[in-house]
Amino acid sequence: MIATQSNVETVSFYIDGAWEKPQGRSTQQVTNPASGEVLADVPFASPDDVDRAVRSAHAAFLKWRAVPVVDRVQVLYRYKDLLERHASEIATTLTRENGKTLDDAKAEVRRMIQMVEVACGMPSLMMGDSLNDVASGIDCKTIRQPIGVCAGISPFNFPAMVPTWMYPFAIACGNSFVLKPSEKVPLTPTMAVELLHQAGLPAGVLNLIHGGKEAVDALLTHPLVRAISFVGSTPVARYIYATAAANGKRVQALGGAKNHLVVMPDAHMPKTVEAIIGSAFGAAGERCLAGSVLVPVGDAAGPLLDLLVKRTEALAVGDGLQPGTGMGPLVTSDHCRRVESYVEKGVAEGAVPLVDGRTRKTSGTGFFLGPTIFDHVTPEMTIAREEIFGPVLSVIRVNTLDDAIDLVNRCPFGNATAIFTADGKAAREYSARIEVGMVGVNVGVAAPMAFFPFAGWKNSFFGDLHAHGKDAVAFYTEQKVIMSRWF
Ligand code: NAD
Repeated sequence: MIATQSNVETVSFYIDGAWEKPQGRSTQQVTNPASGEVLADVPFASPDDVDRAVRSAHAAFLKWRAVPVVDRVQVLYRYKDLLERHASEIATTLTRENGKTLDDAKAEVRRMIQMVEVACGMPSLMMGDSLNDVASGIDCKTIRQPIGVCAGISPFNFPAMVPTWMYPFAIACGNSFVLKPSEKVPLTPTMAVELLHQAGLPAGVLNLIHGGKEAVDALLTHPLVRAISFVGSTPVARYIYATAAANGKRVQALGGAKNHLVVMPDAHMPKTVEAIIGSAFGAAGERCLAGSVLVPVGDAAGPLLDLLVKRTEALAVGDGLQPGTGMGPLVTSDHCRRVESYVEKGVAEGAVPLVDGRTRKTSGTGFFLGPTIFDHVTPEMTIAREEIFGPVLSVIRVNTLDDAIDLVNRCPFGNATAIFTADGKAAREYSARIEVGMVGVNVGVAAPMAFFPFAGWKNSFFGDLHAHGKDAVAFYTEQKVIMSRWF
C-alpha cells in the first residue's frame, strides 16, 4: 500500500532533551525501498533550529564535562543494555527504510553495539602520560580534555552504525553532540536516540536534527561547534573538510570508494567466490567497503568467473524482510536509476555483461536492480573509475601481481581492498605495497572492529584522525601538558 500524506508521521527533532515536531519546515518523504511505501515525512532543520540545537549542546557541555568519566560511561552501559534489548526492532526499522536484508541489518546493529561497548572503556582510553623528574624536581604529565560541541553528519547506508562511530566516543570524552543523519533514513537514528534518552543522558548532551545542505552548512559555520565528523560521498566530504577547516574546526571527513578485489590463481576458489558475492552484492553494493572491481591475476579468471556467475545468478533478490533474500533493493528510485545508468554506460563503452542485473525481474513496486558482472573492463571505462554504489562488479584481468598493484595504486580512492591467495608472500607483499587504508587477506569486507580505526586513504578520507578506535579519543579531546615543580 502506498500511504497517503494524512496517515504518515512526521519525524521529530530532539533538542535539549525534548522531542519536537517542527511545523512549517520543508519536508521529504522517507520510503520503504522494497515497496515504495511512504513511511514518514522528514522535516528539514532551518539555521535557527541548528542554532537552538548547538546552544543547547553548548550549555549541556559546560556541565557534562565536569561529570567524572566513570559516571559518564554509566549512561553508555545502560544504553548498551537497551540496544541489546531492542536490537531486533532496530534491525527491522533499518531494513524497512534502507532496504538491506534483515541479516545485514542485524549485523549492523551488532557493530553499533560494539561501538558503544568500546566507548564504555573511556576511563582507560582517555588516560594521559606522565613522567617524573623530566628535569630536577620537575614532573610532567599530559591530560586529555573534551573540546566542546561536536557535530556529526552521516550517510544513508549505515544509519545505525555510522552515527555510533561518532557520538558514543564524543560524549564519553565529555563533549556534547549534534547529530544530523541522512534525510533518507531518519527512523533508525531516531530509535537510537530514544534509547539514549531512556538511558538517562542529560538534556542537551546529544541533540538530533534532520535536513540537508542548509542544516549542514549551519553546523559547519556555527562558532560554537568545535569539531565535525562526516561520512558520505567524496565530493561532499571534500566540501565539508574545506568549509569546516576554513571555519576553524577540526574535521574528519570520510568519503566514497572504489575497492579492488585481487584474486591469485592459487586462491581457494569456492571460499573466494562466497567472499566476493558478500563484498560486491551484500547490502546491494551500497557499502563503502564493497568490492567494485574484481582483478583476477593470470589463470585465475577462468575458474573464478565460472563459479562466480553461477552463484550470482542464484542470488535471491527481493524484500530484505523476507527470509532467504540474498540481496535487497537500492535505497531510492533515483539511486536505482543512477546505478542502472552505469550498467547502460558499461555496455555502451564495450564491457561484456556476464550477468545483467536489468534482466532480473522482481515482483512488486520496489527499487530493485539485480546484480551485474562485467568482464573485459578496461581501467579507462567509467564503470572502472567512478563509485557506482550499487550491485555492479567490473572485471579487469591482469597478468601479474605487480600489474594488479599498479592498477590499484593508480585509483584515486584508497578505502579498502582485498587479496585472495594461498601464498603468504604474495599477501604480505600486497599488504605492504598497496596504497589503500584497509586491506583484507582472504577477507572480502575488511571492516575494522570498533577498537581499530576506520582507516581510508586518498580521496576516501580527508583529515588526520580516523573514525573510532584510539583515533576517536584523540579526535574528540584536546591534550594539555602540565609541568609542575613544588618549592
Ligand atoms: P552523501 O554524501 O550524499 O550524504 C551524506 C550526508 O551529507 C547526508 O547526511 C546528507 O544530508 C549530507 N549532504 C548531502 N549533500 C550535501 C551537501 N551538498 N552539502 C552538505 N551536506 C550534504 O552520501 P550518501 O549518499 O548518504 O552515502 C553514500 C556515500 O557515503 C558513498 O559515497 C559511500 O562510499 C560513502 N560512505 C563512506 C563511508 C566511509 O567510511 N568512508 C562509510 C559509509 C558511506
